[in-house]
Amino acid sequence: MVTAERIAEILDGYDDLVIATVCSHSSLQIFHGARMEGFKTLGIAIGARPKYYDAFPAARPDDFMVVDSYEELAGSGDELKDMSAVAVPHGSFVEYMGAEAFLKFEVPTFGNRRVIEWEADREKQRVWLSAAGVDMPEKIERPESIDRPVFVKYHGAKGGRGSFIAKNYDEFLQLVDKGQPYTIQEYVIGTRYYIHFFYSPIGEGGYALSRGTLELLGFDRRDESNIDEMYKLGAQESLKRLGIYPTFIVTGNVPTVLRESLLPMALEMGERVVEKSLELFGGMIGPFCLETIVTDQLHFKVFEVSSRIVAGTNLYISGSPYSDLLEPGMSTGRRIAREMKLAMKRGQLLDILT
Ligand code: AMP
Repeated sequence: MVTAERIAEILDGYDDLVIATVCSHSSLQIFHGARMEGFKTLGIAIGARPKYYDAFPAARPDDFMVVDSYEELAGSGDELKDMSAVAVPHGSFVEYMGAEAFLKFEVPTFGNRRVIEWEADREKQRVWLSAAGVDMPEKIERPESIDRPVFVKYHGAKGGRGSFIAKNYDEFLQLVDKGQPYTIQEYVIGTRYYIHFFYSPIGEGGYALSRGTLELLGFDRRDESNIDEMYKLGAQESLKRLGIYPTFIVTGNVPTVLRESLLPMALEMGERVVEKSLELFGGMIGPFCLETIVTDQLHFKVFEVSSRIVAGTNLYISGSPYSDLLEPGMSTGRRIAREMKLAMKRGQLLDILT
């Protein structure tokens, strides 16, 4: 990984910071937010300059850098440094560049890149979250022990691709591709909430942690194709007889709010996950999301943590019912830019960039 000394050296040579990200995922929000906070922006386009920004002028980056591939981007550190760029990672950025290249990418990057090692490996993620006292869906070690409905995920498959539900061992055998490594979890029955947090290690006041502050910026739920609307065609069981199986590919997001009496629990979970991250790897800085299911016992089970801006925050470019109570009009993208502005003013950029 790029050392803190090297990042400090690079920052020493910078003029005004330019906020850069890959043109995808939550880039509209990141550019819009950066502009609101007075930063210049750079859109990194893979293949060709995308036309879709012309439809959204308030979120169009000031400049574009076009590269042929993520591999080329990984090798474009010098060019980006010459432009005084700070990279804001999002899901697609890290996923397509690859964790290894992302860790070596010699461009100051918002957040703590050390989180990757704990997030990318499902086993390490479980160690981290469990140590934080967060309840996760139970892991079923051997398929032969399947004694209830389960959710099966293939390693490295993102966004629900390839995942499937099996109600018993026989169904598991029918559906599994044993050629790929997989994990089996109990299927948690309940309602999903994707909780958007922001952890500021340099924040003061507010919901205070041992160091810095935690903010809760909003909630969303994902639209997943085809599971979410397949009921229109019939019950899952009868559809299976026609060879139609549920899939979990994210196609969009819907806004939601949480029952208010659950908010303290949501905040406490966020708090414990951050505190444990400070202990384990120096802290998960900036936006993160706990992907949860709330059971009818009003109990949270966390099936995943995403340690950067999630696309569900795109719902709230002009603020959410919760971020409005912190500051009207504050999106997660804008919050990232605000953090950089604050850190610059206080000479604390090295606390939030790696
Ligand atoms: P993931 O691959 O972890 O992002 O999960 C994709 C989708 O599968 C989620 O949005 C949920 O709808 C569902 N899901 C994941 N894990 C579980 C689980 N243990 N129980 C029930 N549903 C789950």
